[in-house]
Amino acid sequence: MSERLKLANYIDGRLTPPQHDHWLDVFEPATGAHYADCPDSDGADIDTAVAAATRAFPHWSATPVAQRARFLNRIAELLEARLEEFAHAESRDSGKPVALARSLDIPRAVSNLRFFATAVTQFASEAHAMDGAINYTLRQPLGAVACISPWNLPLYLFTWKIAPALAAGNTVVAKPSEITPLTAWMFAQVCIDAGLPPGVLNIVHGSGAATGQRLVAHPGIKAISFTGSTRTGAAIAAAVAPRFVKASLEMGGKNPTLVFADWEANETNWATLVRSAFSNQGQICLCGSRILVERSIYAKFKAEFVEKVRALRVGDPRDPASDLGALVSQAHFDKVMGHIALAREEGGTILCGGDAVRVQGRCAGGWFVAPTVIEGLGPACRTNQEEIFGPVVTLIPFGNEDEVVALANATNYGLAASVWTTHLARAHRVAARLESGIVWVNCWLKRDLRTPFGGVKQSGIGREGGLDALRFFTEPKNVCINLE
Ligand code: NAD
Repeated sequence: MSERLKLANYIDGRLTPPQHDHWLDVFEPATGAHYADCPDSDGADIDTAVAAATRAFPHWSATPVAQRARFLNRIAELLEARLEEFAHAESRDSGKPVALARSLDIPRAVSNLRFFATAVTQFASEAHAMDGAINYTLRQPLGAVACISPWNLPLYLFTWKIAPALAAGNTVVAKPSEITPLTAWMFAQVCIDAGLPPGVLNIVHGSGAATGQRLVAHPGIKAISFTGSTRTGAAIAAAVAPRFVKASLEMGGKNPTLVFADWEANETNWATLVRSAFSNQGQICLCGSRILVERSIYAKFKAEFVEKVRALRVGDPRDPASDLGALVSQAHFDKVMGHIALAREEGGTILCGGDAVRVQGRCAGGWFVAPTVIEGLGPACRTNQEEIFGPVVTLIPFGNEDEVVALANATNYGLAASVWTTHLARAHRVAARLESGIVWVNCWLKRDLRTPFGGVKQSGIGREGGLDALRFFTEPKNVCINLE
C-alpha cells in the first residue's frame, strides 16, 4: 500500500503542520481510498497566518505593480510547466476525468494568474473636474483578505480569487476546500519556487467549522471573497455584517437551459448542450439542470437527448474514454442519490440513469452515478427548486416565450442560463428578461475573463472577473483638490 500524503499549511513562506496536530482524512473519489491527511487548522493557525499577511502587507502593497505582475506571471509559468502533474492530482483529489483537469482546470488556473497580472497594469480610476476643484479617485488595496473556495473546480476557483487580490496589492489568507486540498498544497511549493515573499499568500487548510469560521471572524481580515454553497454564504454574510466587512459571495445555482423549436440542432450544439448538463459530473455551478424545451419539439428532443446521455461513459477518471468520473465524496454521492429518490417520490419518470454505477477493478469502491434525466415534474417541486449539483437534470416542456421566461425565473437562484434559438430578436428579448447574472446564447461556458461574473438572488452578491474583481479588492478614496 502506498504511504498516505501528509499535506501542510503554507504560512509566512513555509510549509508547516497545524499547530494542534488535528487532521482530516482526504479520499480519492474514484476508489474511495483514504490517501492523504489534510490539516484541520484552528484559531492558532489562523492567527499566525493573518499576522504573517498583515506583516507582509506594507511591503507588498508598495511593491511596484509591474513587479507584482511579474511574480504572478512567474507562478503561472512554473504551474504551466507542471500542468500534467497538477491535472493528475486534481483528478485524483476530485474524481473528475484527467482529460477535463488537463483541458479546463489547470490551464484556466494558469490563465487566471496571467490575466490578472496583465489586468492590474491596465487598472485605472476616475477623475471628476468641477467648478473650482478637481476630484480624483484613489484605489488602494485593503490589507489582509480572505479567499475561501469550494471543491468542484479546486485550483481554478482558488486562483480566480487569489490572483486579483494579490495583483491589487493585498496579502491573502486562503482556505481551499478540505475535500479537495491537494493542488492548493502543491501550489504553495510553486509559490516558494517562484520566490513570492513570505506572508504575501498564506494557505490554511481545514474544515469550514474549525478553519473557515475562524478566518471569517478574524478582526485582521479586511474583506472576504467566498465561493461555495448558498447556505455557507448566508452564514458568512451573517457573521461579517455586524463588523461591516466587505464580502463577495458566489453561491449556488439551479440554472435553466431554454431550447426553442428553432434552435440549430447540429452536432456541435448537441455536444455543448449535453456538456452543459453533465460536465464535471454536473458539479459546475454553471451547469444547466432544468432543461426547458418548446412543446412542439419536446418528444423529438427528448428521444435524441436521452440517446446521447445514455452514450456517455462513466468510468475511471484516468481512462481517456471516460466522459464522467466520480462524484467528489461519499456524502455528496449520498446527497445526489437522495435527490434521485426524491424525484421518484415526487412522481418523476427516470428516462435514463437513476442509479449508482459500479466500475470494475481499481475503481470498485468509487462514488459513481449514471447521468440521469427526469421528466414529469412541475416547476415548484423540490427536484426543480433545490440545487442537486450532480449528474441529474429534468426536462420540462413549455408553450411560448412568456411561459419559458416565467419557468426559468421560478427559482430562488439566478446564476447562469443558456438560450438556444436562431431567432435573433427573441434571443435578445429573452436574455434581457432572465433573472440571471450570466446568459449564454447558443453556447455555454464561453468565458472572457474581462466580463462580470456572478449571480443574482440567492446565487450571489457582487461580481468577480476583470476590473470588477480589482475594484472589489481595492477601496476607492475620493481626493478633492481645491483650485481656487
Ligand atoms: P461549501 O459552502 O460547503 O464550502 C465552500 C468553502 O467554504 C469550503 O472551503 C468550506 O470549508 C468553507 N466553509 C464551510 N463553512 C464555512 C463557514 N461557516 N465559514 C467559512 N467557511 C466555510 O460549498 P462546497 O460544497 O464546497 O461547494 C459547492 C457549492 O459551491 C455549490 O453550491 C455550488 O453551486 C457552489 N459554487 C458556486 C460557484 C459560483 O461561482 N457561484 C462556483 C463553484 C461552486
